[in-house]
Amino acid sequence: MSKKRPGTRSLKRMLKMELVKELLEERQIGEQKDKQLAKLRITIEDLDKLHEEEDDIILKMEEEMDKQKLLHDQLHFVSNEQLTMQLEKIAMENRCSICLCPWEAKNYHRLVSLKCGHLFGELCIRTHLQLSNVCPICREIADGNDVRRVLLNDNP
Ligand SMILES: [Zn+2]
Ligand SMILES: [Zn+2]
Repeated sequence: MSKKRPGTRSLKRMLKMELVKELLEERQIGEQKDKQLAKLRITIEDLDKLHEEEDDIILKMEEEMDKQKLLHDQLHFVSNEQLTMQLEKIAMENRCSICLCPWEAKNYHRLVSLKCGHLFGELCIRTHLQLSNVCPICREIADGNDVRRVLLNDNP
C-alpha cells in the first residue's frame, strides 16, 4: 500500500479553501472596521448632540445672567432709593430739633449735646434750659452744665 500523494485536484481544493478562508477573514476584518466606523459615527453624533445641549446650556446661562442683571439693577435702584431716604433722614437729624436749622460749626448755633446724647444748636438748648430742666426730646433731666460741645471729625 503506497501513500496517496495529494493529487492536483486536492491541492487546488486546498488552495481554494485557503483563499476562501482568507477572504472570510478579510470580510470579518472589514465588518469589524464597519462596526468601528459605525461606533465612531455614533460617537460623533453624540458629540454633536452634546454640542447642541451645550449651546442650550449656554443660552440658558445667558438668559439666567440677564435675569440676574435685571434683578441686580432693580436691587441697586431700590438701594439707591433707600440711600436717598437715609441721607434725607440724616440731613433731618442733622438739624437742631428746636429751631429745625442745621447746626453750625462755630458761633451761637454750634453743635452741642446733653447727657442723654441728644444734639442741639447751642443757643437753642441753652435758651430752652433756662425755661425747662429736661431734654426736649427724651425729657431726661438736664441743665446748662450738661451742655457739651460736639466736635465732628472734619472740624478742628
Ligand atoms: Zn436750633
Ligand atoms: Zn435727650
